[in-house]
Amino acid sequence: FLGGKTAVVTGSNSGIGLGIAHRLAMAGADIVLNSFTDRDEDHALAESLARDHGVTVRYIKADMSKGDECRALIERAGRCDILVNNAGIQHVAPIPDFPVEKWDAIIAINLTSAFHTTAAALPMMRAAGWGRIVNVASAHGLTASAFKSAYVAAKHGIVGFTKVTALETAKEAITCNAVCPGYVLTPLVEAQIPNTMKEYGMSREEVIQKVMLERQPSKEFVTVEQLGDTTAFLCSDAAAQITGTAISVDGGWTAL
Ligand code: NAD
Repeated sequence: FLGGKTAVVTGSNSGIGLGIAHRLAMAGADIVLNSFTDRDEDHALAESLARDHGVTVRYIKADMSKGDECRALIERAGRCDILVNNAGIQHVAPIPDFPVEKWDAIIAINLTSAFHTTAAALPMMRAAGWGRIVNVASAHGLTASAFKSAYVAAKHGIVGFTKVTALETAKEAITCNAVCPGYVLTPLVEAQIPNTMKEYGMSREEVIQKVMLERQPSKEFVTVEQLGDTTAFLCSDAAAQITGTAISVDGGWTAL
């Protein structure tokens, strides 16, 4: 149902972004994959996605911590019917020890990049008369955890930015929503395990069960396929009146 549409997914050479790209390609959308690297495997990923789904897939390198590169990504895509702002990083530390450069990078990549890509994409969506923006926020866009100050601030910020984007496009065939996942076992989450082990003096298994899934009443990780399906739903006609919302996919975390 997305034939003829082009989807730009930021931070999509791994994890949730790649899962969303797969699902949108399965629905017939042409895809622009992105990350800040320019490796053979990034381009190979684009080729295999194109082969798997019979759509056009390009990999465009752009660093989402830099505003001009965020805008250049959309310009180089040439068309952007679906924008998925997914690129994100994490750092875990108490506030007094939180490295300033990590704070700045998290705010830039997890929040400000969406402002730049949205600003560049909206004129294209308006010209096409249709558009979908999906911002990958987090359960941490609605609730907090200790030691994640920059991440929680950025994710709450993007939930607010989602609402403003929805209001500015409300009378058009354009929607903007946030998806708020609980824990998904991607490389981003893997990378937090060592620090959290140190912070709480726990083993890997204890961190998974007692810190991560402790907050997730289902006691199961969310999967990238489930997030791909949620995003595809938001791109469907059934979701045409869903805008400005934050959809939790978190095994009950934010119901607690
Ligand atoms: P991941 O590390 O697998 O993927 C992050 C992606 O962002 C990668 O493709 C990476 O290359 C890209 N990226 C990082 N810095 C970039 C930059 N400067 N420019 C361009 N791309 C950059 O992690 P993930 O878990 O798939 O996370 C994807 C999104 O989902 C993030 O916004 C994250 O905050 C959010 N999220 C993840 C979880 C989880 O449990 N994994 C939960 C809630 C929200």
